[in-house]
Amino acid sequence: MNAPTPGFNRLNPLDRRADALIANSYYEASADRPLADDPMLDGALEADVCVIGAGFSGLSVALECRARGLSVVVLDAHRPGWGASGRNGGQTLVGFAKDEIIERQLGLDGARAAWAMSVEGVALVRERIERYGIDCDFTSGYLTVATKPKRVPNLRAWMESASQRWGYTRLSWLDTDEVRARVASRNYLAGVYDPFSGHLHPLKYCLGLADAARREGAQLVAHSSVIEVVRGVRPVVRTARGEVRCRFVAACGNATIGDVLPAPVAARIAPIPSYIVATEPLGKAADALIKGREAICETTSSSTISVCRRTIACCSAGGRVRLERRPCN
Ligand SMILES: Cc1cc2nc3c(=O)[nH]c(=O)nc-3n(C[C@H](O)[C@H](O)[C@H](O)COP(=O)(O)OP(=O)(O)OC[C@H]3O[C@@H](n4cnc5c(N)ncnc54)[C@H](O)[C@@H]3O)c2cc1C
Repeated sequence: MNAPTPGFNRLNPLDRRADALIANSYYEASADRPLADDPMLDGALEADVCVIGAGFSGLSVALECRARGLSVVVLDAHRPGWGASGRNGGQTLVGFAKDEIIERQLGLDGARAAWAMSVEGVALVRERIERYGIDCDFTSGYLTVATKPKRVPNLRAWMESASQRWGYTRLSWLDTDEVRARVASRNYLAGVYDPFSGHLHPLKYCLGLADAARREGAQLVAHSSVIEVVRGVRPVVRTARGEVRCRFVAACGNATIGDVLPAPVAARIAPIPSYIVATEPLGKAADALIKGREAICETTSSSTISVCRRTIACCSAGGRVRLERRPCN
């Protein structure tokens, strides 16, 4: 587990940093990978669809294509779950970080449609866990909490917009006593409870999707970085040691895909700092801190969002991570 992922691209600084971080991550230490990695690409393969990237996106595409009878090859530069899908906060939530902005951009009907899609997304995760028997610690329940008096009315207004404007009616309001009964923190002044959203172990979920994709007949290939996609009626996806000739290419390589995609797409990939921290094991104390084991998100300022669940905290803060002595940290 301490060795760098074989085949990683030493020229890509994102890859290099990620490999160092992943080697000893809590997620890798608490998930079971298959004893042997999927084979590398060596030679030529034919498929209806070639998927680049074995994260949530690529594996979901593979499952959907297999369900429609298409043959699928999934190529990953590393192995399933190496990317963000194997090391994110695991929060499985409806809605968006900035719903008002979404409505401003898309209009009311667009915002309602986007919300409906996000609800479908959570439903799909739940359905896949059930259908493929994925053991990934999924836990229902999500709290959005206000930490400052002035944010309480904003939170209430957001909840009312969610039900009255964007069509999501499962939320309920928690006053100070109610939110503190759920989370042992004096910092929280009010909250919104969502019983449908939740959280999971992202690497276990991703490895479960990979397992399902293999069982459904997709061919997974590891340690095979795509270096070129030759576009055309029959695209060819090339790695250093082989190629996949296909009808369709699904590019699901996320931020580290490099210059494989056409320039206008590559130009739209921007770095956004985001961090994950795992606590030391808290034992029984953890149950007293968040009794219902909900995921929690506190909106601390317009530019900083910090989210947490029992063992994991993550934060995007314009390049800085801020840790405080709080029960859920
Ligand atoms: C710190 C952090 C916390 C997050 N927290 C949450 C959260 O709590 N809830 C939530 O819903 N989302 C969260 N996200 C976002 C979520 O993780 C991503 O949206 C999701 O995992 C993206 O999945 P993906 O399959 O598109 O990409 P990835 O999981 O990144 O997969 C891309 C794959 O493509 C492969 N690849 C890249 N380039 C190539 C190439 N040239 N050839 C072959 N393979 C290639 C990589 O090896 C990788 O395995 C978080 C993200 C981060 C970084």
